[in-house]
Amino acid sequence: MTTPALDEKWMKKALQLARKAAVRDEVPVAAIVVGPEGLISYAINTRERQQTPLGHAEMLALHKASQKRGSWRLSDCTLYVTLEPCIMCAGAIQQSRIARVVYGATDPKAGGVSSLYQILHDSRLNHQVEVTDGILENECSSLLQGFFKDRRDEKKIDKARKNYRERASVVVLHNSQVLGFHAVDPTSEVPYFFLPGGAIEAGETPAQSAARECLEETGYRVRILEETAFERKYDFPWDGKIHACKTTFFVGILDQNWVAPKQVEDASYHRGVEWIDEKTASDVFSYSKDILWAVQKLLKTAKKKNQSRR
Ligand SMILES: [Zn+2]
Repeated sequence: MTTPALDEKWMKKALQLARKAAVRDEVPVAAIVVGPEGLISYAINTRERQQTPLGHAEMLALHKASQKRGSWRLSDCTLYVTLEPCIMCAGAIQQSRIARVVYGATDPKAGGVSSLYQILHDSRLNHQVEVTDGILENECSSLLQGFFKDRRDEKKIDKARKNYRERASVVVLHNSQVLGFHAVDPTSEVPYFFLPGGAIEAGETPAQSAARECLEETGYRVRILEETAFERKYDFPWDGKIHACKTTFFVGILDQNWVAPKQVEDASYHRGVEWIDEKTASDVFSYSKDILWAVQKLLKTAKKKNQSRR
């Protein structure tokens, strides 16, 4: 067999091994050490499983080959690896006196052989290594790209699967004042000023929930302007837990004559209804950047609605 054909043969074997690493959730890289007698050792990346920065495939394959040979010196051997060795592995390759390194994909972010450093070709070092790159490069790099894409997709799915509490909230603006109520976290005792709002119950539309909650929590009847709806996802700490909230926010307008706030019968954390000056909203709602963002967005909408009604 010619050298290129041999190189491909060993790289194919390394690729097969690298696929196994991917199945184990390791970055799919594999290395093989071949001597005149044939295959000496092989290894896959085990950094995650063993939780060691030394767990790169090349390090492990070199270590195994030395153990098998009973010598750290591997000067008649070739190392095959699916990805350009990093700085650490290039150092170990130097130390092993390996004659030749063959790799598949280049690693522009961490490569120590050609991409970032050229450690195997540094004339200041007393050992020079013959390097062949680009063997089955497409297969090697698409294995890595596929692996990282799958991981990103899994993260997206995890986020989407998060158990959101579906809620509805309403911003009611009247004479430059915003309706809400004071509340105290039962666990942390942190005081809050909340917009009227709460869970969307079975059979309710978000707008119906917002109107019902507003009546329960503040005593005011409001008309929800459904066209102002938008949704926001955020985490909110409450009662010792972080709640993943998916809230539909609305602008609401008083559906009754203005009267002073009354005492309401609601949850034990409720500490009284109040209309706050809209100018203080950025302070009052600063406890959550998401809620603040929603309040500011809806106040703008509410002002436009008020102007157009005049
Ligand atoms: Zn490495």
